[in-house]
Amino acid sequence: KPRIGVLAIQGDFAAHAEALREAGAEAVLVRKPAELAGVEGLVIPGGESTTFLRFLERDGFLGALQEFVQTRPTFGTCAGCILLAKEVRNPAQRSLGVLDVTVERNAYGRQIDSIIETSQTALEGGPLELVYIRAPRIVRSGEGVKVLAERDGFPVLVEQDHLMAATFHPELSLDRRVHQRFVDLVRSRTTA
Ligand code: GLN
Repeated sequence: KPRIGVLAIQGDFAAHAEALREAGAEAVLVRKPAELAGVEGLVIPGGESTTFLRFLERDGFLGALQEFVQTRPTFGTCAGCILLAKEVRNPAQRSLGVLDVTVERNAYGRQIDSIIETSQTALEGGPLELVYIRAPRIVRSGEGVKVLAERDGFPVLVEQDHLMAATFHPELSLDRRVHQRFVDLVRSRTTA
């Protein structure tokens, strides 16, 4: 089984760990930078990206994470997607800068404007439930970014080499196809 970490300093990491187990991975909670060395892939969950940054700026965590995401499979959801992005707007903030997208934070309004939708995506097996919670919007994506799902013409699920990102929360749905895809990505990168 691939050993996949879930960044567990903030946000809904427990639901991600459970989803990864259901998708056939061994899930490990990562709370310290040194723990990154023991995992083959990483999920950066949703939560509040500014709070993540505040925690990461301690103990050299940001540097260790920066190095990990350069080459190792990483899946960022919602706040995690914001952290992976090359550019963040509304307002501009620091990020890991590896995913070639520009994201606008809280682009759909306030918490009350959070929504659950079902739509057709590039994943096989029919429509997918998409849970959005104060979601960011990917307003630009570079050439190397593959779009797997969209909402109103904006990407909501993307892939770029060893990276995956979603502006919604796949861990909050029962469907495991998105986590499965990431587990497969980790497998393909570690057995190659
Ligand atoms: N609004 C959060 C942010 O800007 C993201 C919300 C989420 O992760 N559900 O960081």
